[in-house]
Amino acid sequence: MRGAETEPRPVPAAGRPERGLHRAVVTGGAGFVGSHLCDRLRDQGAEVVCVDNLLTGRAVNLAGLRDDPRFTLLRHDVCEPFDVDGPVDLVAHLASPASPRDYARYPIETLKTGAIGTLNALELARRKGARFVLASTSEVYGDPLVHPQTESYWGNVNPIGPRSQYDEAKRYAEALTTAYRTKLGADTVIVRIFNTYGPRMRPGDGRAVPNFIAQARAGRPLTVAGDGTQTRSLCYVDDTVAGILAAARGAHPGPINLGNPAELTILALAQYIRDLCSSRSPISFVERPADDPCVRMPDIALARTALGWRPSMELEKGLKTTIDWFAAHEELTEH
Ligand code: NAD
Ligand code: UDP
Repeated sequence: MRGAETEPRPVPAAGRPERGLHRAVVTGGAGFVGSHLCDRLRDQGAEVVCVDNLLTGRAVNLAGLRDDPRFTLLRHDVCEPFDVDGPVDLVAHLASPASPRDYARYPIETLKTGAIGTLNALELARRKGARFVLASTSEVYGDPLVHPQTESYWGNVNPIGPRSQYDEAKRYAEALTTAYRTKLGADTVIVRIFNTYGPRMRPGDGRAVPNFIAQARAGRPLTVAGDGTQTRSLCYVDDTVAGILAAARGAHPGPINLGNPAELTILALAQYIRDLCSSRSPISFVERPADDPCVRMPDIALARTALGWRPSMELEKGLKTTIDWFAAHEELTEH
């Protein structure tokens, strides 16, 4: 660490006016959520630098931005230090494998990205005096014993279980972000994102929504884990991105839950997707993964009051839009 760069600067005053986001760095910007965030920032007039090593993302997600002179894709592993020229108003740190299948495949990479990658992204934000947004997750609550989950709940995480590389990486990233804020005066916010779905998900990432859509469309059995009574609360990607941007523009340090409190069982989700796809696929009950959370539902009172944010997309419309995207992009949605 270089001496002059570690000088503390004052903690930003609470309630200061909303900031302009003229130039943003988005780590993980070639992924599912990150690419939508890049799109939205560009649409709002920002210049965007995406930093991504394409571990679980795809350059094609950025096809609409590729020829835009105000967009740059920096193919880089955030575990290696990085810099960008010129001023930066926002560093949105989304880089990390995010689906259970991906982080099972890349456990060391996931831990390194949550730890060293977060350190490098925080350093960039601090050097530039930029607002830093950490994309944390509802997984910090583990298999929750409090329901719905409020930000004050500390969670129930198995530190050596099959999800630990992700959960503990994000918990460490939250602790590091908090230390940068309190010790160095970095301007940070932690958002805890709950299950998000929408166009650009990969069926190969193994998550329930893309799996069920791909299976229903192909007439294959829908693989419901366990008896399907475990619950999740699904938020459409445009709503999640709007929440991330509201947090970026505000002054609240978080953590703030971002999610849609409409809770449903996984069996109900499978049946719903099958109906929307007009599919006759059977349901196949398969082994439930270890440590799979039994329930998950955000309490979003803080996001409502601190950010004036709430999700607006109804599940039926969001799923139909996602199914239509899968139908229109068969070349991208094969495994
Ligand atoms: P994703 O896998 O589609 O995107 C992650 C992106 O990060 C990919 O483009 C990947 O290539 C990139 N990446 C991974 N490691 C990297 C590294 N070391 N250096 C540079 N780039 C790297 O996942 P997603 O669903 O878009 O999730 C994005 C972020 O949001 C993640 O941080 C995830 O933890 C968080 N999140 C997502 C959800 C969700 O439901 N999608 C829920 C909670 C939190
Ligand atoms: N799931 C399922 N069938 C699948 C994929 C997932 O039943 O083909 C279940 C999974 O066991 C979990 C829920 O759906 O209970 C949500 O899983 P996902 O991977 O989408 O998200 P996460 O577990 O990270 O919340």
